[in-house]
Amino acid sequence: MQTILIIEDNEQNLYLLTFILEKHGYAVISARDGLQGVQLAQTQPLALILLDIQLPLMDGYAVAALLRTYNSLSHTPIVAVTSYAMFGDRERILAAGCDGYIEKPINPQTFVEEINEYIRRSSTASSA
Ligand code: MN
Repeated sequence: MQTILIIEDNEQNLYLLTFILEKHGYAVISARDGLQGVQLAQTQPLALILLDIQLPLMDGYAVAALLRTYNSLSHTPIVAVTSYAMFGDRERILAAGCDGYIEKPINPQTFVEEINEYIRRSSTASSA
């Protein structure tokens, strides 16, 4: 089973994302702040990291930049989950080391397909 790390401080969002991903066969581990997320990311192999941008202690930009400094996470897709207000920060999200972003509120119909696609792309890239 593939594991996804969700770094998200909003309990409702975390619950929804976890519910959808588990329903589609992923294992989920989660952190409520950026620092805890960075620590947790180093504890086991991850298929993908879902990253909220507005987080306590360290924001998502800082978290992504720090995660990218670890060799073990250099090929792990990092996908930001951003509110509409932060949509203009696309370049900043990508520059921080994220592979892309999904806008909140998420669309449960397309969310898992997008996640699957990020994972598919990263496994193709690392085996090439
Ligand atoms: Mn947040």
